[in-house]
Amino acid sequence: MHCPGGAVLPHTDRDDAAAAAGTRLHAFLQAATEVGRADALGQVDDDDERATFAAIDLDALPVGASYAAEVALAFDVTTGRVRELGRGLSRAEAYRTLTPTEIGGTADVLALAPDHALAADYKRGRSAPPATRNWQVRFLAMAAAKLWGRSTARAAVIQLAASSSPSWSVVDLDVFDLEEIADRMRELHSIVTAAAETVTSHEIVPHLRAGEWCRHCPAYLHCPVQTALVRRIATGAELDTMEMMLPLSKEIAGVAYGRLRQAEAMLARVRSAIYALAKREGPIPLGDGLVLGEREHRGNEVLDGKVAHAVITELFGGDLANEATEFTMTKAGLRRALRVHAAGQPTSADEKRALALIRQRGGAGRKPDTTRIEEFERDAND
Ligand code: SF4
Repeated sequence: MHCPGGAVLPHTDRDDAAAAAGTRLHAFLQAATEVGRADALGQVDDDDERATFAAIDLDALPVGASYAAEVALAFDVTTGRVRELGRGLSRAEAYRTLTPTEIGGTADVLALAPDHALAADYKRGRSAPPATRNWQVRFLAMAAAKLWGRSTARAAVIQLAASSSPSWSVVDLDVFDLEEIADRMRELHSIVTAAAETVTSHEIVPHLRAGEWCRHCPAYLHCPVQTALVRRIATGAELDTMEMMLPLSKEIAGVAYGRLRQAEAMLARVRSAIYALAKREGPIPLGDGLVLGEREHRGNEVLDGKVAHAVITELFGGDLANEATEFTMTKAGLRRALRVHAAGQPTSADEKRALALIRQRGGAGRKPDTTRIEEFERDAND
């Protein structure tokens, strides 16, 4: 919606740790919907990841028999009809049968209520626009309503953060909102089609509009706006300009920081595309006998505290075992254990009681405060 020209440029796969972690989280939530929490956790191989997923408050999420996960839909801009393409498919599989007049999209969650259709999308971190401004989830809510013959819909963006409960941003859409979204999709489709024709027949670059949305753009590595920067970095021209900004005033530092961030984002994307190629097509020669490719590393051996403590007690006595064992507990770990102990019942009162007693007995501390330079929103009163 922000930069239709991006739909016309070639797209590239991404392969970075954040994208892979996001895919595994989605797979867990899909499995929790289909086979239940315990079995879904049983499918997670990595111990740390299993612990992270176990701490997710599934009661606060649309998970369970009434919800469908990872549903791909296609909206036909000429007929206004919507069809389901499948569930739990990769993008390539899901959109293989899209016709030239269809726009495809995949909902993390869909549900049908008596009077409306629900479409929800999970987001990690805080960068996603809320549901009121989120075209992706509003498009999916419109498509779900059309698929199931509902005249109203609810679109939700669910932010998942490791340290806090999920937070929902919701917008309810009436029949007029749904028609307006469908009209905007038709408009978008005709703009993208016209841009594609112009590029093909006149071999010119489509009109592009850069902004914060570029971070998620699949055309990023082919985008002239972005690649110009890399070319300038590669030739040193950009770095020379940045160096010429030294010594810095606050104003110039702001401009330099913006360019630095843009350059770092671009370099991260280039790295991720190179890694994707190495994964897909095997090691890449780097010269001098070096290659860049996938290599397996055996994980360091870790000891299970309970078993090790029992063995050392048996062999050398309890004092030595106590000395060799470090006991640690996190609030998230305590919450998880209490939940398992109470078989899913609410445990906030037990948690408060335990924490109060631990604090009273001097068993809680805080790491020293630290300061660091970071980006944040200035308080309106500052
Ligand atoms: S990177 Fe930004 S400007 Fe370039 S095509 Fe994508 S959205 Fe448009």
